[in-house]
Amino acid sequence: MKITFVGTSSGKASLDRFHSSLLLSTEDYNLLVDAGDGISRALLVNGINFNSINGIAFTHLHPDHFSGLPALIVQMKMMNRKEPLDIYVHHSLKNVIEDFLLHSYLLPEKMKLEIRYRTFKDDDNVKISDNFSFLARKNSHLVELEKYKVNHPSISLYSASLLFETERKKIIYTSDISSVEDMFLFKEITSNIFISEATHLQTSILIETLSKIEAGKIYLTHFSDEDFQMISEILATLPNSLRNKIIIAVDSLSFEI
Ligand SMILES: [Zn+2]
Repeated sequence: MKITFVGTSSGKASLDRFHSSLLLSTEDYNLLVDAGDGISRALLVNGINFNSINGIAFTHLHPDHFSGLPALIVQMKMMNRKEPLDIYVHHSLKNVIEDFLLHSYLLPEKMKLEIRYRTFKDDDNVKISDNFSFLARKNSHLVELEKYKVNHPSISLYSASLLFETERKKIIYTSDISSVEDMFLFKEITSNIFISEATHLQTSILIETLSKIEAGKIYLTHFSDEDFQMISEILATLPNSLRNKIIIAVDSLSFEI
């Protein structure tokens, strides 16, 4: 599997980096994880052909993770795509995406490419291709919004952390998280790669938590330009044994596992 950090910025727009998005490539499937504002341009900069993407998985619907979808589908249409596009999303969010596309005038009867919704529930094992699957667990990223649900009962506050598995490798992607507990949603698993969008954790707590994570390598992402600098400086002070395990991801970082 090849992992590419298409973007690594936080929700804050940056001149130098794109919003957070990952591309996971196996022999027969390219899965994009999240497609926020500016994703089409981010893919262009990374030299990734829009039509090489077989499916997109969404962790949650904050705009920096999701709002680039209609624009990306328009690019695919302009390239005359006929192959279907899979959308992996929690079942409670499917209608939001469907409506978003519809109200962006991406009408199914006008499109040559089929959008195939592959919805999942918490803890479902979702098969992507023969040797590639994932499992989602709800994290606490959107819990602070629960109190507004009385006024907006139709909104879904599901935000997923994902465990990706191939035949030999396990990758934990915490996605955007808001509590230390979210770092341990898959605590029964020792992953080869642990990727965390840890921007909403207090820095001191994040650093303390990193030493407790059992993984081959830890990648941190989703930092603003200012926080990126600050975290880099703090990591430099850690003991080598821990420091060597942790990488702060930058846009276009790509590696095979
Ligand atoms: Zn978010």
